[in-house]
Amino acid sequence: MSDTNTYSIRVEPTKESRLSQVDFSNLKFGAIMSDHMLVATYDDGAWQDVAVVPYGDFTVNPSMSALHYGQAIFEGIKGYKFADGTVSIFRPDKNWERFNKSAKRLQMPEVPEGIFMDGLKTLLDVDRSWVPSQEGTSLYIRPFMFATEGALGVHPSKSYTFAIITCPVGAYYSKPISLKVETYYTRAAEGGVGFSKNAGNYALSLYPTQLANDEGYDQIMWTDANEHKYVEEAGTANLIFRIGDTIITPHGDTILHGVTRRTIMELAEKWGYKAEQRKVSVQELTDGIKDGRVSEAFAAGTAATVTHISRIGYEGQDYELPPVEGREFSNKVLDYLNQLRYGKINDPFGWNFII
Ligand SMILES: *Cc1c(COP(=O)(O)O)cnc(C)c1O
Repeated sequence: MSDTNTYSIRVEPTKESRLSQVDFSNLKFGAIMSDHMLVATYDDGAWQDVAVVPYGDFTVNPSMSALHYGQAIFEGIKGYKFADGTVSIFRPDKNWERFNKSAKRLQMPEVPEGIFMDGLKTLLDVDRSWVPSQEGTSLYIRPFMFATEGALGVHPSKSYTFAIITCPVGAYYSKPISLKVETYYTRAAEGGVGFSKNAGNYALSLYPTQLANDEGYDQIMWTDANEHKYVEEAGTANLIFRIGDTIITPHGDTILHGVTRRTIMELAEKWGYKAEQRKVSVQELTDGIKDGRVSEAFAAGTAATVTHISRIGYEGQDYELPPVEGREFSNKVLDYLNQLRYGKINDPFGWNFII
């Protein structure tokens, strides 16, 4: 990264913490935000005013381009509290790298390490007591950036806001999900923006997802835009399969390169499995489910880590996967990551970023 500056981060503590009003035994995802947020602004070709301030409203110009043309990107990260009170974030450097790939694709300025990573550290230090400590809980961390220039013209904005907000989230036990293979709507095409975590990728998924829900499926299994023959993602999480003895995940620029997916593929390799990133056709899956070669299928993402897939619907037919209890690899990976992120076992890979 070209910008190696360090930035001074001003801290303006809240006068009235909301912490005592929070019922930590009953947390609804994304409903209650922590006391503070990090905010930085980009103007005149430079980042300025990096500050941790009380969480609150933004004032925006009605003609700002994020609202009209969607120059807006985000990240999702989780922080955990160990039994001894240590606060740790899981692989945030990978989110920082991905954030800047998204920024580049949407013609937005990159956010330097001195703002993204140091900002994260400062913010979590100030809001340390917002990281919940009960089994399975975490602090969800949402960095985002949007174009703020008030000018109705389709051109890159001259000014941007980068911010990080956080919220405590409850234990996430995800039930196995059913997926409908989508053969009409498309999430991403080659050369498009599928690999970037930009706002528009999520708005476009809402309607087709509702149609899948109406048909009794939890989520969509997206397929390629050209032929609808190859599977890509499960809603807003990556897909991983065990076919024969190989752990396989789809790849390419139409797929969001998840930190969880990367982590799980790295573990598969370290544990001696064959691990491949390649195209997976719907045919390979449905045939493999029928003849037993597909023994595991799950969605991978920061929200739930591993969400087992129980059923896949394709062209009016349902394909049932084997019972979750017998899924050796996905259960092992989930258990290992749970222990690692809460500091219950040592961290041989340096994935825990201690605050
Ligand atoms: C965020 C996201 C993922 C998962 O990425 P993680 O870094 O593992 O959380 C997968 N697919 C889509 C479309 C996403 O937005």
